[in-house]
Amino acid sequence: MSAPRRISILGATGSIGQSTLDLVRRDPAAYHVVALTGGRNIAQLAADAAEFGAEIAVTAHGDCLDALRSALSGTGVEAAAGETALIEAAARPADWVMSAIVGAAGLAPGLAALRTGATLALANKESMVCAGPLMLSEARAHGGRILPVDSEHSAVFQALLGEDVGSVERVIITASGGAFRDWPLERLAAATPEEAATHPNWDMGQRITIDSASMFNKALELIETHEFFRIPPERIETVVHPESLVHALVGFADGGLMAHVGPPDMRHAIGFALHYPERRHVPVKRLDLATIGSLSFRPADETRWPALRLAREVMQAGGLSGAVFNAAKERALDAFIDRRIGFLQMTEVVEATLDSIGSHARLVDDAIHLDKVLEADHLARYTADEIMARL
Ligand code: NAD
Ligand code: MG
Repeated sequence: MSAPRRISILGATGSIGQSTLDLVRRDPAAYHVVALTGGRNIAQLAADAAEFGAEIAVTAHGDCLDALRSALSGTGVEAAAGETALIEAAARPADWVMSAIVGAAGLAPGLAALRTGATLALANKESMVCAGPLMLSEARAHGGRILPVDSEHSAVFQALLGEDVGSVERVIITASGGAFRDWPLERLAAATPEEAATHPNWDMGQRITIDSASMFNKALELIETHEFFRIPPERIETVVHPESLVHALVGFADGGLMAHVGPPDMRHAIGFALHYPERRHVPVKRLDLATIGSLSFRPADETRWPALRLAREVMQAGGLSGAVFNAAKERALDAFIDRRIGFLQMTEVVEATLDSIGSHARLVDDAIHLDKVLEADHLARYTADEIMARL
């Protein structure tokens, strides 16, 4: 038997992290868990670290260290806390690292893992949106690789296996339409965080679920497609597909479309990245197409979902505008969750932030350095807060 693979999971306590551990749990002898990281859910983090015999468990929050230490006492698992500890844990030698922290906070730990030459399974789409060229160049420079875990990007990756990327005519990313797909437009202004945090098909973390209702999630995914596969923006399309069974389609020069079809269960994409380049059994539901009967598609209306238009502008602008876009979106989402702004105001805040510092972001057209990316991120957060204070 070969030696167990060394794996780490950044954001282990979240939705993607727990689905990853679900797969690992089915074949524990195949893996040695190096590091697990989480936030304030110390009970979950400690229980998982003890169950999997992790070398180290890290909470992002310094004030949670004592609680983590006491929860892990007697288990032999090392406890640590804070951003630096998180980055150090991500840099511990591992073969495969799951990047499943939510937000731009996932960027530095993911980069630290890539710099060890590990394979990075990338659920944290914000890393590609904020710093796509940096992620790809660090992977190349250190002999590591990035495998997309976002379901649409895993789908595109799979459709491209064995294909010549030069023959790709277009990539179509599907969108469920989220919680408000069928709401009358005039109701959207009054939509609450609770209403936005329910998803018709996928069971995900709170933030990405609300981003699905506003289509900011799809906007991030369009940029992620552009950055990861180096496809020009005009060749990337979105279509609303309420059933969430076709995750993406790739169109080739001969007019053929390769579609990836599967149940809305992230364990497919996670399992694909975990087992790549092999395909192994993954315990997702098998689709019965005759029972499903039909698949439907409709246009993605940019009046209903202006975030899609902003994504196009960001892809055209390039440079650090992805980092600005994402950071402004994170602040606007915080404010919406706290009921400081309305649902539709999220897009207004992001657009105003882009307008306010867009030219500056282009000026420092240098998304290749982490410090520049973080600078743009901080400036965008500050600007978005100023804009919201004036609303
Ligand atoms: P989640 O909110 O369920 O979990 C997030 C994880 O990150 C938790 O472990 C949390 O403790 C940790 N975390 C949060 N803030 C942190 C910070 N500032 N520093 C360090 N750790 C922090 O989120 P999720 O739904 O699992 O999503 C994780 C990532 O995967 C996101 O980038 C999301 O867009 C992406 N993604 C998720 C899904 C899904 O089905 N949930 C699908 C595709 C992509
Ligand atoms: Mg997705």
